[in-house]
Amino acid sequence: MKKEFWKTKPLSEMNRIEWESLCDGCGHCCLVKLQDEDTDELFFTNVSCHQLDLASCRCKDYAHRMQRVPMCAQITVEALPEFDWLPDTCAYRLLSAGEDLPDWHPLVSGQDQSVREAGISVCAFAQSEEFIHPDQLHEHIIEDSDN
Ligand code: SF4
Ligand code: SF4
Repeated sequence: MKKEFWKTKPLSEMNRIEWESLCDGCGHCCLVKLQDEDTDELFFTNVSCHQLDLASCRCKDYAHRMQRVPMCAQITVEALPEFDWLPDTCAYRLLSAGEDLPDWHPLVSGQDQSVREAGISVCAFAQSEEFIHPDQLHEHIIEDSDN
């Protein structure tokens, strides 16, 4: 990858490696979300997908994630407008708004752990859905998608 490619290359022209490297691994995409049936409002929980390794904050099987979890978010440049629930810190959101990456982003810091040190990683507080009964999910709501 070219140094600081994201500063000169539009999202639409990035290759797969560049695109994937923009994900800082914060894990927000991997939190279980609940949707109000009447209003469509989305609520984040502190419960993570069973495929998320909470130690590394990485998917246990990223290559086959769609087969393992059909609801897994597949973010593309075309579909980006639909992902309005991505956190303000997400690189896809920042770059599409014409902003730069923050200092703690691994592409800038050169270190994966800078995400956790900056308090951005959900793995600092998430609990795996393996240990949560589906009926109890509403008790784990932490914020709505506007936050
Ligand atoms: S919110 Fe953005 S940076 Fe965080 S896991 Fe999802 S795509 Fe990656
Ligand atoms: S399958 Fe992997 S990438 Fe998809 S939500 Fe689960 S942990 Fe995250």
